Amino acid sequence: MNYVLLLDWGKDHALMVLAVVITLVLIYHYVIERDKAVKLSKKYRNSIFEAQSRIFLNATQYLIEGNKDLAIKEFLNAVDLNRETIETYFALGGLFRSNGEIDKAISIHRSLIARDSISESTRLQALKELAHDFDKGGFIDKAIETYKDVLKINRDQQDVIHSLCRIYEDIEDWDQAYNYRIMLSKVGQENQSETISHILVQKAKALFDKGQFKACAEELDDAFRFAPSVSAKILRLRLFLILGKMEDAKGLLLELLKEHPMYATFIFVSLEVFNSKLAQAEEYKERLNQLKSYFLSMNDIDLMTSPSVVLSKIRLLKDSQKTIDAFDLLDGWMKSHGHSDVLKVEYIKLLIEVGKVDEALHQTKGLLNNLHSSLTRHYCSQCGYNSDEIFWRCPQCHNWETIQFRWKV
Ligand SMILES: [Zn+2]
Repeated sequence: MNYVLLLDWGKDHALMVLAVVITLVLIYHYVIERDKAVKLSKKYRNSIFEAQSRIFLNATQYLIEGNKDLAIKEFLNAVDLNRETIETYFALGGLFRSNGEIDKAISIHRSLIARDSISESTRLQALKELAHDFDKGGFIDKAIETYKDVLKINRDQQDVIHSLCRIYEDIEDWDQAYNYRIMLSKVGQENQSETISHILVQKAKALFDKGQFKACAEELDDAFRFAPSVSAKILRLRLFLILGKMEDAKGLLLELLKEHPMYATFIFVSLEVFNSKLAQAEEYKERLNQLKSYFLSMNDIDLMTSPSVVLSKIRLLKDSQKTIDAFDLLDGWMKSHGHSDVLKVEYIKLLIEVGKVDEALHQTKGLLNNLHSSLTRHYCSQCGYNSDEIFWRCPQCHNWETIQFRWKV
């Protein structure tokens, strides 16, 4: 409670604190420089110091009175007197931005950029800050434009290119996202192949949904050249279904499950998503059913140790009303692999459905004792972001393919 109050006080009075600190810094500078006996006459330097002190005292006074606009004006006046105080501009701008007062941050950085008397590197820094202001304020178009202006002056700006990548991925402009990732891979040290592959898969997905399968296949081939991601493989699987290449589809499904058994549930949920307006919709459904039958007939011992694979099988069996088969499968699995909360819930539901109520009650009691309840189906292994939706790019930390599944209770 006290901590929260302190935080609020800090927010409300941040400018005042800053003003006092800046005044102290200026006094410190004045003292240091006076000892160095720089060329300026003592009288002249004293008058500068007096002027600065007056300005900061005024600014502080305005802040105490809550008049931030006048306070800013006083701060800006100070910069004319001492070039070094340009840093105070940046400090103030950053403070406003982090305080959510974007318009004030913007006006400070704009007035810096417009100044004749600053160095090119300061101008570049101010332009970058301005881009961050627009970015934080949600003015996406202006942010993009300003980031690009920075790159026109100096292309070797990793953080700026990275910001552009993030924005274009957010707004799902995959062409531009691709261009800037390529640029980033040339400027930065970090390998961008995985991310570029994901972006190309997104491009290919859009083409798939429009029924442009040939163009989709080409983009997808490009994606594989960069890196074979799980989402690339799932999309290729959907293409095989569209084209009627059932043997290829079966082979790829097996490969996917062997490599990533924990993704089994995602694979089948992803395959279900299909634009029903497309001419091939019926054929697609038919072939998907064939693929499901093939999956159910698989009896690979390694695969069956994965809860996600077992869960997928049970879901498919239940969808086709084969409750007894689903129960037999899970009953056998629970007896040999036992301790999975993930599957216990499913097991209890099936026990009820096949009429074994006493056993269901017994199992429920055991489950409740060590259940860690959760609200969502999926979460991000990097940052813990939760969602019921499947996300290939985490909306929170922007990492790709960090999704994990958990049982929704
Ligand atoms: Zn995340």
